[in-house]
Amino acid sequence: MIESPAIRARDVDDMLTRYHFSSETRRIIEEEHLLPPALLHRLHLNFAEQSRFFRTDAYYFSGKTYYNGLAGFREIIGVLTANGIEIGDITEREFFIEVYRFLATKHVLNSIDWSNYEEDTMYQLVFPQPGMIPRDEVQKYINAATDEERRMVVEEYTRKTNPHDGKQMLNKPWFLNDDGQLEILQGCQHKYPPIALIFDQFTQNCFAFCTYCFRHAQVRGDEDMFVQDDVEQLLMYLRQHKEITDILITGGDGGFIHYDRLAEYVLPLLSDPTLAHIRTLRFGSRALTFHPELLLTDEFENILSLLQQCVDSGVQVIWVAHLSTPRDILNPGTIAAIRRLKAHGVAIRSQSPIMKHISLFTHPDGTVDIDRSAQNWIDLGNLLGMLGVGFHSMYCARPTGEHHYFTAPLADIHKIFSKVYKSLSSVNRPSRYITMTSSAGKISLLGTAEVNGETVFALKFNEGRNMDWMDRVYLARYDEQENTIEKLLPYQGEKHFYEDECEEIERRLEAALRHEMARAGNNDQ
Ligand code: SF4
Repeated sequence: MIESPAIRARDVDDMLTRYHFSSETRRIIEEEHLLPPALLHRLHLNFAEQSRFFRTDAYYFSGKTYYNGLAGFREIIGVLTANGIEIGDITEREFFIEVYRFLATKHVLNSIDWSNYEEDTMYQLVFPQPGMIPRDEVQKYINAATDEERRMVVEEYTRKTNPHDGKQMLNKPWFLNDDGQLEILQGCQHKYPPIALIFDQFTQNCFAFCTYCFRHAQVRGDEDMFVQDDVEQLLMYLRQHKEITDILITGGDGGFIHYDRLAEYVLPLLSDPTLAHIRTLRFGSRALTFHPELLLTDEFENILSLLQQCVDSGVQVIWVAHLSTPRDILNPGTIAAIRRLKAHGVAIRSQSPIMKHISLFTHPDGTVDIDRSAQNWIDLGNLLGMLGVGFHSMYCARPTGEHHYFTAPLADIHKIFSKVYKSLSSVNRPSRYITMTSSAGKISLLGTAEVNGETVFALKFNEGRNMDWMDRVYLARYDEQENTIEKLLPYQGEKHFYEDECEEIERRLEAALRHEMARAGNNDQ
């Protein structure tokens, strides 16, 4: 190892002891040179405030890896209480858990700075907070006298949440198989021509649950969740759709896929010429944030070899992380896991969520603190650059779950983005403007302009139900408070240019899907 003047190999060793890494993980880090002291030294010099490398606070959670559901939450509360920490509002938090679920890893729990937990972004990311669910709903839960009454309150509120924003059910594809039989892919979304999303049966879980989750149906196991059981069915669909170049294994968390299942998807891509048009394999995963030690095991070596095989065969492999603060990254496990992926040819890109309380901050009066928020993103952009991780995009909270808690006015987000964009060198900037997903597509907020003395927002699709929409910049009325791009009013006229066509496309998709599902039902009989 290269010795840094300030951090020596011995200091790294002490750090690994402090983080309770297993002997297997320590050996991998050592043998694969995953934590060079010079790198840690430079990162620590640049981001001393956010760095957790040389922490001296207590390490409360050891032993088990996962703390799941109400029982896991109560166990955590027990550990905290035993150490003199009372987070309070337990009943309200438990209501949230019953509606949305709860899961935290040892890594997450030990990443939180418990001496200042209320300000800790990881704490906000995983722990339910007072104010997330509206007060009157919480009160019903508090007032419920029996378990049965509580269950009914939970069920009633769960029905009010919005698990499938953006009309995702319309993105389910279908095809005729070699016998002329209709097949619907129950665990796939094909909305934009170049990419198919796969919700594999083994990725319907997460390493921890984000409080702002936008895939509640998957995470809660709702009846209408997307689940792909049959790999061959997906491969047949891909063979018929030469416009698809990318497949994204997602969930839940794509990082949950095990070697044998991944091989079922990947080996045909490498050997079957009729699948040569698939040139990119993506994983949507938060393992780097929630459970980086998973990537630092001998077992994970098999997956890495498979991914390396892809890279050596001209299939680029992209690990899509969702990093939104330097705090997600500045710990030895995450740095080592990033370096291990990269050493096997895997590119990492961050699609980063802009969420109030986590990666966007407010003043005590509730207004957005533009400077502090921008600094978080400037630091993140520079840090990603130092680690060779691509800064793919910053995206806005989707109107699902407790959206009101995490969202902020687009006008403020735009001000933050402008500062970030100006401050970062061009190679470290996000590759997209601020983006928000809707049923129509992914729309970027390019900025503001003056038209006839009036300030307007300039918008542009970067993916659309009709990809031709991407050719056009369009205008919307400036609004200081609106937080959802698709709700911005057109600058002129009643509707945005794409709305009628979008409604027509959705109507056709809905009718066709209903028709095909009925046919598939008949085929089954
Ligand atoms: S990782 Fe994704 S699917 Fe899982 S809880 Fe977080 S947002 Fe939801």
